[in-house]
Amino acid sequence: MKNWMTIQQERIADDMKRRINKVLEHGQYIMGPEVKELEEKLAYYVGVEHAVSCSSGTDALMLALMAYGVGPKSTIITTPFTFIATAEVAALLGADIMFVDIDPVTFNIDPDKLEHTLEIARPEVHTGVIAVDLFGLPADYERLRSICAKYGVFIIEDGAQSFGGELLGDKTGSLTVIGCTSFFPAKPFGCYGDGGMCFTNARAAKDVMESFRVHGKGKYKYENVRVGLNARLDTLQAAILLSKLEIFHDEVEKRQEVAKTYNVLLTDSDLTLPTVPEGYKSAWAQYSVLAENEHHREKLREKLMLQDIPCPIYYPKPLHLQEAFKDLGYSKGSLPISEDYAKRIFILPMNPYITLEEQVKVSKTIERT
Ligand SMILES: *Cc1c(COP(=O)(O)O)cnc(C)c1O
Repeated sequence: MKNWMTIQQERIADDMKRRINKVLEHGQYIMGPEVKELEEKLAYYVGVEHAVSCSSGTDALMLALMAYGVGPKSTIITTPFTFIATAEVAALLGADIMFVDIDPVTFNIDPDKLEHTLEIARPEVHTGVIAVDLFGLPADYERLRSICAKYGVFIIEDGAQSFGGELLGDKTGSLTVIGCTSFFPAKPFGCYGDGGMCFTNARAAKDVMESFRVHGKGKYKYENVRVGLNARLDTLQAAILLSKLEIFHDEVEKRQEVAKTYNVLLTDSDLTLPTVPEGYKSAWAQYSVLAENEHHREKLREKLMLQDIPCPIYYPKPLHLQEAFKDLGYSKGSLPISEDYAKRIFILPMNPYITLEEQVKVSKTIERT
């Protein structure tokens, strides 16, 4: 399979070189005009007032938690079926962490189980939820928002994988008071390094996150009103993203087509295919499938790998069973759906430029079992 990022790069090479050269000429490598331009354009794209760019998706989550004042007296509730960064930021700020199992159809945090957890825990301390839009599919924010409002807890969207996705016509990033995304190269909207962004309509949140982003600055650089981070987005990465934005809408639509094609090609396979509920649009960061069991998965992946078809496992170990979180006291069996899916899930090649022939090869390889 041809590296799709090369195809993408060829498509925008002239524009990107022009923008990169412009940065080299003006020399404002930190917080140059491209950073502001990208923030304005992406805020408009997402449909919010403000965008605060930063150095990674992890730092976007960190800034959002810091804006909510998360610290050692806080509790953060999230899904165990995600990338470590989602929960890591809460741990770094000293917060307690509670995991809630996923919905078996969407793989996102299960609103019923969240409500059950909140009902039992009756949070007396400062509590928030981080919902993850796994593989590009928005979580059920309709229900999550109303449950969080009922129990007086805040909610943050980890949209690292879902930039370009939608829920009832609203773009990811706009689905909670502060939404976060990542520009890591492998995400749907990736740069050529690390980068991330927070989105919000709340002016106060924007101001606080901009301060935290640059060492807790006050009115000027050498006035420090809080303890913060060095978490800026590089001007060069902003320039690269501005180029990629020109074709992003088209790429999101291409991913929809690729997903539809897989759905057709794999209908008769013995895999469970991803479901996109009515009213949702996935950014299709990944096309994930569930095998019948661990053995079945390994048989299929061996066949795919023999054909040089990449088929990684996201995620092989749910967070509550990670060594890093052993102090939280979870054990095997405590979050059964995440644990079961970790044994059965794997990923098929998904990008805007994959050809029908390549998809047919994938499906044929899977059929031959
Ligand atoms: C990638 C990812 C992050 C972290 O983003 P980085 O830019 O790599 O720091 C956070 N959450 C989820 C769900 C991710 O997939």
